[in-house]
Amino acid sequence: MLKFVDVPRGMPEKRAADARRDDFGEIYREFAAAKAEEQASRCSQCGVPYCQQHCPLHNNIPDWLKLVAEDRLEEAYQVSQATNTFPEICGRICPQDRLCEGNCVIEQSGHGTVTIGAVEKYITDTAWEKGWVKPGKPIKERPESVGVIGAGPGGLAAADALRRRGFQVTVYDRYDRSGGLMIYGIPGFKLEKHVVTRRNGQLEAAGVKFVLNCTVGKDRTFEEIRSAHDAVLIATGVYKSRDLGGPGAGLPGIKKALDYLTASNRHGFGDNVPEYTSGELNAQGKNVVVIGGGDTAMDCVRTAIRQGAKSVKCLYRRDRANMPGSQREVANAEEEGVEFVWLAAPKGFVANETDDHVAGVRVAKMRLGAPDVTGRQTPEEIEGADYTEPADLVIKALGFDPEELPTLWGCEDLPVTRWGTVRTDHRTHMTALEGVYAVGDIVRGASLVVWAIRDGREAADAIAAKFDDAARVMAAE
Ligand SMILES: Cc1cc2nc3c(=O)[nH]c(=O)nc-3n(C[C@H](O)[C@H](O)[C@H](O)COP(=O)(O)OP(=O)(O)OC[C@H]3O[C@@H](n4cnc5c(N)ncnc54)[C@H](O)[C@@H]3O)c2cc1C
Ligand code: SF4
Repeated sequence: MLKFVDVPRGMPEKRAADARRDDFGEIYREFAAAKAEEQASRCSQCGVPYCQQHCPLHNNIPDWLKLVAEDRLEEAYQVSQATNTFPEICGRICPQDRLCEGNCVIEQSGHGTVTIGAVEKYITDTAWEKGWVKPGKPIKERPESVGVIGAGPGGLAAADALRRRGFQVTVYDRYDRSGGLMIYGIPGFKLEKHVVTRRNGQLEAAGVKFVLNCTVGKDRTFEEIRSAHDAVLIATGVYKSRDLGGPGAGLPGIKKALDYLTASNRHGFGDNVPEYTSGELNAQGKNVVVIGGGDTAMDCVRTAIRQGAKSVKCLYRRDRANMPGSQREVANAEEEGVEFVWLAAPKGFVANETDDHVAGVRVAKMRLGAPDVTGRQTPEEIEGADYTEPADLVIKALGFDPEELPTLWGCEDLPVTRWGTVRTDHRTHMTALEGVYAVGDIVRGASLVVWAIRDGREAADAIAAKFDDAARVMAAE
């Protein structure tokens, strides 16, 4: 049965129609097929596949576009899944404007990119519908076991690739659900949660074991995990939120982006989330100010709009051209009614006189000065131009740093960089600790799902190669 979803006040009708679209699956499936074929046939098969070169997984995009254009979808799926563990997830959330689509030759010649991500999503969604996506059960079991710490895209991509080769794989995660930021960070309107959970189901069906609600460093020591497995892969992501100081920084009503997004995602799962129900982590009816200019900030502003906020503003200390987030996401947010306040930096927070709750952000107006060593113009404060931006809910989205794993895990010999990320050999992903590998954000710093997938697949190759080499040496002796 068709049903409408609630569309928040203030959302323009075009966007409202888009938001409703998912509930019209029956109608749009036909539309999507026509659209995918039409888009795929726009590919000129240029012979210099910049799209493929700029995809971190080097997906064979021209080949699967050609197969879609010829209505050979099952073959397109086989080509697409050969290089990507989660094509339907990347198709939904890769910043394609900075990767494959931004480098499409047709885009470069001013005729609008082939919508590669949408076609990739369509191919694999169809494969799921038709039952072509099968659990990666191995042909032959191997005795070696691998412990993966962290069930985000990096850990899961490695788990999948190792299990297909017959390794005994156990994934440990501190959350109650597997998926990492794909489950509790990225909002459901960008990445529907069933798309992630059905992948978890496939991994379980293939024989991957999950130990959830298990924080390594607390519930189990790192040494326990190491001694239980022949190899260990660290894929714990980056979770230490960058913070803000200034007067009033500790006022109630000032929240971290990930706490806000996690509450919203948990509510979407039907969990009991007291902070959401009480309004503490819910934007409904509020004047919301989000501080930051990256993709996390964009997710917060767009979530606040969907929760029915009275107003949503995004403060960023540089201008639009210098924003780190995807321009496509900024345009989406603007269309949905978010107001961007450029060249604006928080200086402090003001409280309600009655209850001491946050009532506004003291904002310093900025201008862009001389470029710094990285070539980026440094924001400078304009003296005497401060003002107060009213806010009942302030969300800090200033980025993430790695947690101090060597200290938290009592493993001082785990090598880290000066930024706290785990140091690895960039080809094998192995650390200086024998049999310990690391991938994804904990190595790169806050990055992208597609890079975590690539790392996970490469680490699985390296782990398998190492055991194969060892087996060959033993056989020769
Ligand atoms: C709000 C938000 C939106 C984003 N949107 C996008 C997007 O649209 N597109 C995109 O490509 N990327 C996006 N990203 C980035 C992307 O989510 C990450 O780059 C990616 O998830 C990193 O994968 P990972 O496997 O390294 O780590 P994560 O996904 O962070 O997974 C790490 C896992 O390790 C677990 N863990 C951590 N410490 C321990 C421990 N001690 N013991 C046990 N388990 C532990 C965590 O619970 C978590 O499940 C977004 C990030 C955020 C925060
Ligand atoms: S994985 Fe990402 S970058 Fe690669 S083709 Fe798909 S959408 Fe583009």
